[in-house]
Amino acid sequence: MLEFKQISYSYHTKKGETAAVSDLNFKVGKGQFVSVIGPSGCGKSTILSLAAGLLSPSSGEIITGSGEFGYMLQKDALFEWRSVEQNIFLPLEIKRVNTAEMRAKAVALAEKYGLKDFLKKSPSQLSGGMRQRVALIRTLAAQPEILLLDEPFSALDYQTRLEVCDDVQSIIKSEKKTALLVTHDISEAIALSDKVVVLSSRPAHVVAEHDITFADTPKGRRNDSHFAAMFEILRKELGI
Ligand code: ADP
Ligand code: MG
Repeated sequence: MLEFKQISYSYHTKKGETAAVSDLNFKVGKGQFVSVIGPSGCGKSTILSLAAGLLSPSSGEIITGSGEFGYMLQKDALFEWRSVEQNIFLPLEIKRVNTAEMRAKAVALAEKYGLKDFLKKSPSQLSGGMRQRVALIRTLAAQPEILLLDEPFSALDYQTRLEVCDDVQSIIKSEKKTALLVTHDISEAIALSDKVVVLSSRPAHVVAEHDITFADTPKGRRNDSHFAAMFEILRKELGI
């Protein structure tokens, strides 16, 4: 579905060269939810930009399926002057697929995930958690194959973050989408993922990979006796 093979990437600026990614190898299988964890500044956002083709690798090969990418960011980036519904239609306009059929699908998706009563509202009338749900539904409206999530929960307060990340994960799973999440939050990665990929500090390469198989919901994971042990393993691999 998505594979990084010996990927390296350096930024070139007036001040010189910054190696952001070096000899990176990992795979994201179809329908998998994979989290990449690493320290701040190690190259996580760069990896998502490479996956989406916004940056081209300096060396190595990225293998992607035929499907399209959808991005979800830390800031929900909803447009305040548009209603929730108009926000959800935005990717349809950008991709020039703004047909009655696509709009109906987008509305059905919004209604399926509890946004029926919010469609005509302004984003400013919504809680932080609800806004992130709108942002996810907007991302899904264009029917991407793979979702790229760049620390989408890190701007939320702790309690909201738990609710929203569980919510987002369950929507992604029930829509059978493939997801690549980057985060610096170990607990979040364990709770949400089928697989966790641990990165080194910059330039990022893979230090370890773990399939997470215990419990089958984020809440179940957090309450499971294996959680603490996994947390310790990842913490040590991150060197913190
Ligand atoms: P992360 O998302 O893990 O915090 P990034 O992928 O954003 O890390 O950045 C990795 C490194 O590349 C950082 O040292 C950052 O300063 C550098 N970097 C990121 N974007 C640019 C850019 N556009 N030009 C130059 N350097 C950049
Ligand atoms: Mg980043």
